[in-house]
Formats: sequence, structure tokens, C-alpha cells
Amino acid sequence: MIIMFFAEFYQIFGQMVFIAGILILALLSITLLLGRLLIKKDRLMFPKLLLFTIDVFYGLFKKFSENVGVDAKIVDQIGVEVRNKVNEKIFNRIEPQDKILVLPHCLRNPECEATLESSGLVCKDCNRCVIGVLKEKGEAMGYQVFIIPGSTFLKKIVEKNKFKAVLGVACYQDLNLAMTQLSKFHCQGVPLLRDGCINTKVDSRMVLEKMGVNLGESKNLKKGCTTEIYPEKSV
Ligand code: SF4
Repeated sequence: MIIMFFAEFYQIFGQMVFIAGILILALLSITLLLGRLLIKKDRLMFPKLLLFTIDVFYGLFKKFSENVGVDAKIVDQIGVEVRNKVNEKIFNRIEPQDKILVLPHCLRNPECEATLESSGLVCKDCNRCVIGVLKEKGEAMGYQVFIIPGSTFLKKIVEKNKFKAVLGVACYQDLNLAMTQLSKFHCQGVPLLRDGCINTKVDSRMVLEKMGVNLGESKNLKKGCTTEIYPEKSV
């Protein structure tokens, strides 16, 4: 009697696990398709479903993507693009004084003389890299600007400062994880064009656009030390 009970129990349990597995695979497949649609055609559908899958099945989704021949980076890319779209309108309505701009230290010039403090790097405004340009423009608009060496600094920034929205620059993975952590704020993210620990690169025009700068007014362009073209301080 007991043996029959357990046999039946395990049979039902096995069937439930099988069905759950099929459902999760279907969910991952749909999310991947919708994510590619967003990236390639700029069409956002079922954002809550996309974010649910990415947040709940993050590791599994990455493995699934690799197994179907898609670079696992797409998971973070989808996460960032969805969050950017979902938050964009509210972010744009918030005054710069209530926003922070968070830049990664890896963008700086190799000869940078910035010093490290508890809130991150203190830029000396030497204008040898894009950080100086973005910082000066951001601060002139009212942004609080932070240059951080790692995501651990984000926690301190959140604890010690008041703000309603965040504009961040980082690699896709760090951006996605940071935007998830800071989901109670209205976040926008700009991915690095070239990531790594040093000599990274960002589309400074995209950052300025997200900051709310009218690029039509920016006539002075010069070559930066990172070989990237960015607006002069007078932007
Ligand atoms: S502008 Fe760039 S290189 Fe110069 S101090 Fe600031 S972060 Fe360093």
C-alpha cells in the first residue's frame, strides 16, 4: 500500500517537473524572441514578462541562450534595453538636480591624476578624457556626478545622497545588474562601446543626449585621448 502510494506520488511529481520544465523552456524561448525583436526592430512587447524572465531566471537564461547559439550577453542587453524603454519618459521629466550621473573609472586617461575617495574618484578636470567633459556638462546642468571603480560604490552613493533618477555608463552586465538593484529609481543606461578594465570607450553623444543636451547646439568637436570624438567643454 505504502509502496504504491510513493510510486504514484513520484509519478505525479515527475510529471509536474516535466511540465514545469517545458513551461520554463517556452518562457525562455519567447523572451529571447521578444528581446531580439526589441534589439533589432526597436519594438517593445510585454516588458513585464521580459523583466520577470531576466530577473528570475538570469543564470538559466544565459545558459539557454548559449545552448541555442546566441551570445549570453544578449540577456543583459535585453535587460538594459527594456529598462531604458520603460523608464525613459519619467526619466526625461525629472529635473537634472534630482538625477545622478554615474561613470566608470575605466573611461579615464591612463595618465589620470584623479584621487580615490569614499564616493569614488575625484576628477581633477584635466580634460584629458571624456569623463571630464561629461562631468563638467552634467554638473553645469545640475547633475551630481560620480566616477566609480566598482558597483560596491553604488551602495554608498544610494545611502548618502538624495536623488530620483540615475543615468549610468557601464558594460551591459554591470548596467543590467545595477539597474536591477536601483529599480526603485528611474534608471537609464548607456553601454560601453568597448568594455574592459582600462581604455574603455563610450558613445559620449548618447550619454549627452540622455542627459538632455541638445546636440544640435554642439558645434565644437575634438578628438579625445581615447580616440573618441566628443564635444568640448563649451558644449
Ligand atoms: S578628466 Fe579624465 S584624466 Fe583628467 S582627472 Fe578627470 S578622469 Fe582623470
